[in-house]
Amino acid sequence: MKIVNSKLDGESIINVEQKPSPNHGSSFKANFPDTIIIHYTAGRNAKESVSTLCNPAHQASAHVVIGRDNSITQLVNFNTVAWHAGQSSYGGRDGFNQYSIGIEIDNCGYLIKQGDDFLSWFGGAYRLSDAFEGKHRNPQVKYEYWLRYTRWQIQTVEEICRLLIAEYGIKCILGHEEIAPSRKIDPGPAFPLDKLRDKLFNSDRSSDAPAEQFPKSGVVTASSLNIRVDAIINASRVATPLPNGTVLTILSEKDGWYSVDAGVKGWVKKEFVDG
Ligand SMILES: [Zn+2]
Repeated sequence: MKIVNSKLDGESIINVEQKPSPNHGSSFKANFPDTIIIHYTAGRNAKESVSTLCNPAHQASAHVVIGRDNSITQLVNFNTVAWHAGQSSYGGRDGFNQYSIGIEIDNCGYLIKQGDDFLSWFGGAYRLSDAFEGKHRNPQVKYEYWLRYTRWQIQTVEEICRLLIAEYGIKCILGHEEIAPSRKIDPGPAFPLDKLRDKLFNSDRSSDAPAEQFPKSGVVTASSLNIRVDAIINASRVATPLPNGTVLTILSEKDGWYSVDAGVKGWVKKEFVDG
C-alpha cells in the first residue's frame, strides 16, 4: 500500500474501498495531523460500522475502517478532519479530532462469559478461541474478556501507521481509551497498542532491552489468579486459584503467560504477577 493524494492506495494488491463520509470537518491546520487514534467500532461487522459512520444523523466518522473480513474502507481523506475522538484530552491538548487520524478496527469490544459462550453487548456469541482475557489499562474498567483482533487487522493497522508516520511525521499513537478515559474503553487490552508504539517509535531501543531472565520470583497481584495446565484461557485449572500475595517461581514466558511453580506447576496470566 501507499498514500496518494491523502488516500490509501492498495497498488492493485490490496483492495481499499473509498466510501466518502459526509461527516467531516475542514482540512487539518499546518503541521497536523501529528497523532493517530486507535479505536474499535463496537459494531457487529465492518459493513454496518461503515454505514453508521457515513450516516449524517450520527455525526461521527473515522479515516479508515479495518474489517474482520479483511476489508479496508477509507471514509475521510487523511488531510481532512474526521469526527472520531469526541471530547478528549491528553498531554495538555484537548479535542483530538483537529490533531489526529482515526483508525477504526471492526471489533465488538468486551465479552461476557456465559456458560461456554462469550457474548458481546448485542448478544452475539463468540467461541472460546475468539476471547482474549486481559485487564484494561484503565483500572475502573472491570470487563475481563475481549474479542480478539485478527492477525490481519493488527498487521494492517501497523502497515497503515507506518505509511502515515512517513507521510505526515506522526509523532504519537494513542488509544481512544487514553484520550477519553472516563468515556471510552477502546481499543481495549486485546489490541497490542504498547507493542505497536514500541515497534514503530522505539525499534532501535527494543533490541537493547534485556530479555527476561528465568527462573525468578514473583508475587500474585490479582485478588485471585487461575493456574492452568496450558497458556490458554480455557485450559483446565491445575489447582484452586492462587490468592493475592502468593509468592511463586516464574519458570518461563509464552504469549503473555508465565509458567510458574507455586507448590503446583502451571500457567498464569503474566499481567497478574509482579515479577
Ligand atoms: Zn473510539
